[in-house]
Amino acid sequence: MSETEKIHKTDEEWRKELTPEQYRILRQRGTEPPFTGEYVNVKADGIYCCAACGQELFSSDTKYDSGSGWPSFWDVIESGRVELRRDLSHGMIRTEVVCSRCESHLGHVFDDGPRDRTGLRYCINSAALKLDRNAS
Ligand code: FE
Repeated sequence: MSETEKIHKTDEEWRKELTPEQYRILRQRGTEPPFTGEYVNVKADGIYCCAACGQELFSSDTKYDSGSGWPSFWDVIESGRVELRRDLSHGMIRTEVVCSRCESHLGHVFDDGPRDRTGLRYCINSAALKLDRNAS
């Protein structure tokens, strides 16, 4: 696995490039309300990329309906595309998922995913993703 080349931008640059909602989630570790994101119920084929830097993160092949209200995937498209960090905020012990290239916040990963797959549930904010429908 080759090491991902990092993208570093100033807070001001991110603010200019992202919508206020994207900025709040990606750069301030925010969360969109459940069942509100544009990709929750989307079943189209394609590649879900980081909305901040464009790195390919998840394939529609691993997207499933978790009932959580957020886009859910049982795997990443390739190891190394995300980094996991221990998150003790809000009185919970969770594992934060960030983009390995730009270190933007994507969501969290839980161990209640499909048992016949990886057993993982990558619970990702729609606002952190951009679906490339033509990719496969
Ligand atoms: Fe990124």
